[in-house]
Amino acid sequence: MKKTAVFINKLFLDHQPGFQHVESPERLAVIYEQLARPEFQARYLFPKFSAATPEMLQRIHTPAHVARVAATAGRPFASLDPDTQTSPQSYEAARLAAGAVIKGVEMVMAGACDNGFALVRPPGHHAEADRAMGFCLFNNIAVGARHALDALGATRILLVDWDLHHGNGTQHSFYDTDRVLYFSTHQYPYYPGTGGVDEVGVGRGKGFTINVPLRGGLNDRAYLRIFNEILAPVARQYRPDLIMVSAGFDIFVGDPLGSMAVTTQGFAGLARILTKLAEELCDGRLFMVLEGGYNLEGQKDGVLAVLAELSGHGYGLPVNGADNKFLSQGEIQIPGLNQTRDIAKKYWNI
Ligand SMILES: [Zn+2]
Repeated sequence: MKKTAVFINKLFLDHQPGFQHVESPERLAVIYEQLARPEFQARYLFPKFSAATPEMLQRIHTPAHVARVAATAGRPFASLDPDTQTSPQSYEAARLAAGAVIKGVEMVMAGACDNGFALVRPPGHHAEADRAMGFCLFNNIAVGARHALDALGATRILLVDWDLHHGNGTQHSFYDTDRVLYFSTHQYPYYPGTGGVDEVGVGRGKGFTINVPLRGGLNDRAYLRIFNEILAPVARQYRPDLIMVSAGFDIFVGDPLGSMAVTTQGFAGLARILTKLAEELCDGRLFMVLEGGYNLEGQKDGVLAVLAELSGHGYGLPVNGADNKFLSQGEIQIPGLNQTRDIAKKYWNI
């Protein structure tokens, strides 16, 4: 069994983005309730961690942006973007969310745990250098990846984003560098509008952003096929020393914001592929960060299935596709995938 660290804190429940907002504290409360069970308390590590400092946040964000979010502290309500609002403790929660990812990559890089999952909110992958948007205040995963590069000796990070939405903020944070390979699957065209197949990076970063824009309706097998056929060969050529994941559960079949059709079994399958790739390429170093997910049951079950895969306990049901078996089970139509493949082929042998 592996040592899997899970990052939770009650402060994350105190960020209130507004009455009946889909990005609700209940999204985490249902998961935390499960994790309180003795079997999970015994199975996972629950490390302590502290808030990211302004200096750490400013490796990704402008001082003006950090100051703008900080200015919301203690205020009953502030609106930073049409769908991004804050409550008195949002700034502290957002700093702590980024701090969870920082502590997580520190532990993984030092071997203090094998892998981990930051179960935090507000989410992060839409947050730009100078702008909060899409329910996100600070870009948690980008801040963590930058910390791993700048302070922990990481040289190449594979950053996989399976959230329903394109992680515009993460892409833009690393668009001109080859030290982070950003790979995103997302519904398209859709919020936030970025993530076209022709967005491949610039300068030294050219070829180190891979976007897989997808129509809705794709199921477990489709996602597993994309991970096996495109992500896995690219990862083997890139040879990362750390894999990080923006894990969004809004690709769940019952999510109110999206129209993908991934099941709990599919989430376990994606986690299994990534766990195996991490074992093969970087001594198992893998760190996941929660992004979206708005069907409470789907997100809760998905997170627990992913944790079971990370820790080596296994999801408990056969996971078709995670072991390449499904490839012989007939063709799956994935509109647009050939175009993605043709563009990625200019940079990678796939
Ligand atoms: Zn999302």
